[in-house]
Amino acid sequence: MHYAALASGSKGNCHAFCDGERTLLIDAGISLKQVRLRLESLGLDPGSVRAVALTHEHSDHIGAVGVMLRKTDWAFMATPETKAVVEAIHHIEIPAHRWIPMRAGFAVDWCGWRVHPFTLPHDATDPVAFRVESGGFNAAVVTDLGHPTALVADHCRDLDLLVLEANHDVDMLRDGDYPPPLKARILSRVGHLSNAAMAELLAAVLSPRLRTVVMAHLSEQNNDPELVRVVASQVLRGWRTSLHLAHQRDAFLLEPPSALAASH
Ligand SMILES: [Zn+2]
Ligand SMILES: [Zn+2]
Repeated sequence: MHYAALASGSKGNCHAFCDGERTLLIDAGISLKQVRLRLESLGLDPGSVRAVALTHEHSDHIGAVGVMLRKTDWAFMATPETKAVVEAIHHIEIPAHRWIPMRAGFAVDWCGWRVHPFTLPHDATDPVAFRVESGGFNAAVVTDLGHPTALVADHCRDLDLLVLEANHDVDMLRDGDYPPPLKARILSRVGHLSNAAMAELLAAVLSPRLRTVVMAHLSEQNNDPELVRVVASQVLRGWRTSLHLAHQRDAFLLEPPSALAASH
């Protein structure tokens, strides 16, 4: 199983899992053209994309849904609530044959993969994160959450790869230029995950199995990639876990060692 961070941050989010035959995207926050270009740049076939799983309706996660609906035959995984609000925002209708209904807490079997949405504390209609399991490889993409909950931690256990939000440093956000209401929203229990809260959650779910951690949804204004590296490295000290940072503009591809081992 390959994982690709295609884009991550407040200007657009898109992650990809590919088993060599089919690709599942998590979120559609960058253009269809950029999705294709970035997959190709990593040696992945854009023609292998079969579905897009939508976490919630904020524009940095669904901006390209309308174009993807018109120009591809991809299916959309979404809860009924998220589907309805995405349709209202984009003035579109996702037909039944293009919709894979999801419900937080219930795993769906998709082409032999297990795709498991679970609830996040975030200020959207029905926000979820996705845990993806295929061929003995377990991963989760967990961004856009205001604080770490026990339910989120439960779904981040026994993972090979964890993509986890490290949105802001609380002091940088407090001292920065954002208007007070926006600061309050980000800092709230349904906003975004601070570096300190990320460290708390990461420490709670560490295991020998977790070989790869990707820090994601970093704020360009209120965080510093080097600071994220320092904070995460402190938690990972003594563990054989590799650390990566997902970017807004630069895509990268990972082939987790345990996933390779599982396929042999
Ligand atoms: Zn977001
Ligand atoms: Zn959001």
